[in-house]
Amino acid sequence: MERLTLCSKVLYDRDILQKQKKIIELKEIVDGPKILFDNIDDYQNQKNKIFLDLEKEIKNYFNDFNDIYGMDFWALSFDQQTGIAKAIIFSLLKLTKNKNLKWAEYVAWNIVTGVEGFINGILKVKSIETIIRCFTPQDFGVIIFESIQYQLDQSYLDNITIFKCKICEKINDLDECSDCESN
Ligand SMILES: [Zn+2]
Repeated sequence: MERLTLCSKVLYDRDILQKQKKIIELKEIVDGPKILFDNIDDYQNQKNKIFLDLEKEIKNYFNDFNDIYGMDFWALSFDQQTGIAKAIIFSLLKLTKNKNLKWAEYVAWNIVTGVEGFINGILKVKSIETIIRCFTPQDFGVIIFESIQYQLDQSYLDNITIFKCKICEKINDLDECSDCESN
């Protein structure tokens, strides 16, 4: 009986340890990396540069009406989906110094799904023919890039920045050190 208790305790501990490991892994994917920037301007400058490249890359997938017609069937084509996801992953890895590929993939595919949901929403109220009369392919490039940028800014990039206080060298989530600010 004692052995059985010991054996089940070992199994139970192992199970708990595996679960803890899994939780930590998932938390890293959802929270993303923490990246040290000199200050908020440094972060904004680096981010803006990366967003400029991302904008060019995204717009490449909306060059002509062939890129728009397919939306009626599959929102985004396979090439658009994978191309946009890859471009977002590349940008995120550049901004975060290759810290966490799984997070970048998680974010990119969430955003691609969001974009597809948005396109499906438009197609519920207007036919593809109406959409083509109202919007150029280039308009779609702009709309979709803006939607990606907004999602990145509002939902994912807010949490990745950390800063070092110039006075006490403490690492802070905010650009201003709470200890040195109050003195
Ligand atoms: Zn300080």
